[in-house]
Amino acid sequence: MKYVIIGAVAGGASTAARLRRLDEKAEIILIEKGEYISYANCGLPYYIGDVIKDRNKLFVQNATSFNQRFNITVRVNTEAIRIDKKKQCIELFNSNTGERLIETYDKLVLSPGAIPVIPPFPGINLPGIFTVRNVKDTDLIKEAVNGQEIKHATVIGAGFIGLEMIENFHHLGISVTLIERAEHVLPPVDFPIAAIAQKELKRNAIQLMLNTSVTGFSKSNTGRLLVEVAEKEAIETDLVILSIGVKPNAKLAIDAGLTVGEFGGIVVDKYLQTSDPNIYAVGDVIEFANPITAIVSPTYLAGPANKQGRICATNIVHGNKQIYNGSINTAIVKVFDQTIATAGLSERVLKQRNIPYVISTTFGGSNAGYYPGAEQLVIQLAFSPQNGTILGAQVAGIKGVDKRIDVLSFLIQQTGTIYDLAEFEHAYAPPFSSAKDPLNMAGFVAENVLNGINKIYYWDQIDRLKTSVFLLDVRTEKEYEIGTIDGAKNLALDSIRERMGELPKDKVLAIFCKTGIRSYIAQRILVQNGFEVMNLSGGFDLWKICQDGRVDETMSLLEAK
Ligand code: FAD
Repeated sequence: MKYVIIGAVAGGASTAARLRRLDEKAEIILIEKGEYISYANCGLPYYIGDVIKDRNKLFVQNATSFNQRFNITVRVNTEAIRIDKKKQCIELFNSNTGERLIETYDKLVLSPGAIPVIPPFPGINLPGIFTVRNVKDTDLIKEAVNGQEIKHATVIGAGFIGLEMIENFHHLGISVTLIERAEHVLPPVDFPIAAIAQKELKRNAIQLMLNTSVTGFSKSNTGRLLVEVAEKEAIETDLVILSIGVKPNAKLAIDAGLTVGEFGGIVVDKYLQTSDPNIYAVGDVIEFANPITAIVSPTYLAGPANKQGRICATNIVHGNKQIYNGSINTAIVKVFDQTIATAGLSERVLKQRNIPYVISTTFGGSNAGYYPGAEQLVIQLAFSPQNGTILGAQVAGIKGVDKRIDVLSFLIQQTGTIYDLAEFEHAYAPPFSSAKDPLNMAGFVAENVLNGINKIYYWDQIDRLKTSVFLLDVRTEKEYEIGTIDGAKNLALDSIRERMGELPKDKVLAIFCKTGIRSYIAQRILVQNGFEVMNLSGGFDLWKICQDGRVDETMSLLEAK
């Protein structure tokens, strides 16, 4: 058998190695357009920021070591430029020698990744404007940062890579402006969680320009770059990172007549086989049904690409046996001291898709409060109002975010419910968690919400509700004096049993405490005494996060100057 794989990084290298492990006799050829194979593209921003100091650490394998270990022929600087499905061959172009050659295959695997979206803005080709996709891009950025005086950088696009670039420029002492067309950073998460990232960016003096569209680039009188934006003054800068998204690199597949989908990605079946039975495809280039919505879309993540490589190789060698179940887009990003993570569907997507959901937000400590080093975690769950199936989860905090999101991700993948979350058994000792992990607590609260014991309202409903409800802060008098929600009256939880006569029975009591726990206790007391009560999900702290994380239009403009 002869297997040829196009693209030698996440999906391609994984496929090739697994093919060899399963088939010692086959001829395997790995084709890579660039100079490097199997490198850590996820590490590139950290190399630019000098967090990873040694460039060699980015390279997991090279052509020689890969060949030695796996007996695989690796052709770098070699681009696949045409596929002939009928003749089962591909045309290759070696950019070093200018040579063209034809290579036949029994089975072909496509893993050419994604390409950055680069709109045809005026001035887009000016020096100093970069994308971050591969080692070549990284070397160019590194060269610019080391060689010239870069005082200010502008990052366009506040997705995961954009935020990583910001932090790394900041680490190098470069001041940064972030321009994002959407109304908040990290579009895959919902505002309250994005607000935590925004607050952290502001704390680190990053200038945020949200709701802002770039229209083009030009040169200033002093020779610096000008980033032109709609309805606002242009930003003078030394370097621009364009990270507004990627799209599947599917030209080769389209030219070959393989079926592509709505997003321009290669359509594969559950065995990762394309519309041609001799061609499989994996990674950023494919489109696949989301297991929750069944809607087909691309996923641009390293984990799925690597796992697909393994499944694809198994199916090639053993026949189509192993099924790929799709990705729920589990992702995590470090934003200075904060970590933001997501799995499954955001509230925005649930709304768009008309999927019924309930949101519940809770706070918890990363470990036992009495043990040093505990940090606050915010957990937002979206679940089905019918049966409690978890549809999406977002977690933010300084410590312990990763392990929580991994549990949630796995539960979502297994169609787990909030009841499973409440019962989930974790490894506990004070340095690591509490006897009831914040995830258990999130499950308990969601359970109470679903069975009606804890009737809730949300931070963004307060302004609208204020005129009709009695807004009640049940924190201590001292906490109330430091700051509360405008219009709220105070009656501390511990006085409620004695003083409930002061509260109106003809109005709904919209109560809140710091995070929703004390107010839940107050709610239980009051409801059993004939009051109608709603409890603020996430409490005062979540409301405050949403206020602090807001980026005022004028403020962002002033800050950016
Ligand atoms: P790639 O790994 O991109 O490999 C595709 C390869 O194919 C490229 O080397 C390309 O040169 C080659 N190629 C393309 N066309 C041809 C051709 N015609 N002939 C020959 N070779 C060709 N994901 C995460 O989950 N977590 C992260 O933290 C994370 N961070 C990232 C940071 C950066 C800066 C980048 C760029 C990506 C990051 N990703 C991250 C995304 C992740 O790297 C990708 O999802 C993953 O690499 C996709 O694997 P792939 O095999 O589909 O494509």
